[in-house]
Amino acid sequence: MIQFDNVHKAYRVNGRDIPALQATSLQIGAGEIFGLIGHSGAGKSTLLRLINRLEEPSGGRILIDGADATALDADGLRGLRRRIGMIFQHFNLLASKTVADNVALPLRLAGELPAAAIDARVAQLLARVGLGEHAHKYPAQLSGGQKQRVGIARALATEPKILLCDEATSALDPQTTAQVLQLLAEINRELQLTIVLITHEMDVIRRVCDRVAVMDGGAIVEQGAVADVFLHP
Ligand code: ADP
Ligand code: ADP
Repeated sequence: MIQFDNVHKAYRVNGRDIPALQATSLQIGAGEIFGLIGHSGAGKSTLLRLINRLEEPSGGRILIDGADATALDADGLRGLRRRIGMIFQHFNLLASKTVADNVALPLRLAGELPAAAIDARVAQLLARVGLGEHAHKYPAQLSGGQKQRVGIARALATEPKILLCDEATSALDPQTTAQVLQLLAEINRELQLTIVLITHEMDVIRRVCDRVAVMDGGAIVEQGAVADVFLHP
């Protein structure tokens, strides 16, 4: 589903290369929940953002579903992004739009469905994440957990096969974190969705991930089944 062959990345800042990801090879299977854990600056976000090409690799090859994601034209890139949803630590919702309009946005931008079909899909998505009653509220009227549910509904709008989660529970309290993780695990099963999630919390990895990669200094220093990488207490 997701394959990295010798992918590396350096950021060019003021004419100097700042290494962020050393040559990395990695395979994430369809339907897996794959965790990336490591300290701040370890390269987790860089690796995640290379998957949907929010970052350009400096070298190497990235295959998504067998197709080379490093050689896409603008159309190909739009198609790739539609097949890969993303959620964020601070939710990234538009404050001036209602919950329903936030979720509808990717569908309106894609421009493929008529308005009535978009409304129906948005209602279905909001019901699935437990926000059917909140469609006409604004983000500021919601709790953190509710905001992340909107983020999840928006990320799923275009029926992606991959969901990227960048510290998606780091701004939430433990109880809300558990609820959001449970929703992600349910969606993973129902939709055979592949999930790649970044966290700095071991507990998040233990609760939902099948496999994990530990990152340090721009490299994967260990990876495998969660039970093999971390001894359970
Ligand atoms: P993590 O997600 O594990 O905190 P990042 O992938 O964000 O790690 O960062 C890896 C390294 O790359 C860090 O040294 C960081 O400062 C650097 N970095 C990340 N993004 C940029 C950027 N846009 N420009 C320059 N350096 C960056
Ligand atoms: P995160 O909490 O995901 O690690 P950061 O606060 O590290 O996020 O980064 C937020 C944004 O700043 C990202 O877009 C990242 O690419 C960029 N960034 C991170 N480190 C640097 C850096 N050293 N120089 C420039 N941009 C950076």
